Amino acid sequence: MPDVKVNKERCKGCELCIVFCPKHSLELSAKFNSKGYHYPEFSHPDTCTGCAICGRMCPEVALEIYK
Ligand code: SF4
Ligand code: SF4
Repeated sequence: MPDVKVNKERCKGCELCIVFCPKHSLELSAKFNSKGYHYPEFSHPDTCTGCAICGRMCPEVALEIYK
């Protein structure tokens, strides 16, 4: 099963990764990082295909995808 690692301290909370994930595998956390941004959580690994669209969309390079 693919894995998506979120570097939450790099995240600026833009939600691009969440919006562009075709499988709805990411959800915005209710928690904040140290800069005060909500960051994504990899909450549905069961639907993830490892396509890496989320990682390519992230302007902060905060996501690592493992197939
Ligand atoms: S790798 Fe693809 S399917 Fe998995 S969370 Fe990222 S965008 Fe969604
Ligand atoms: S695209 Fe990057 S900066 Fe934007 S919410 Fe997702 S992880 Fe955070």
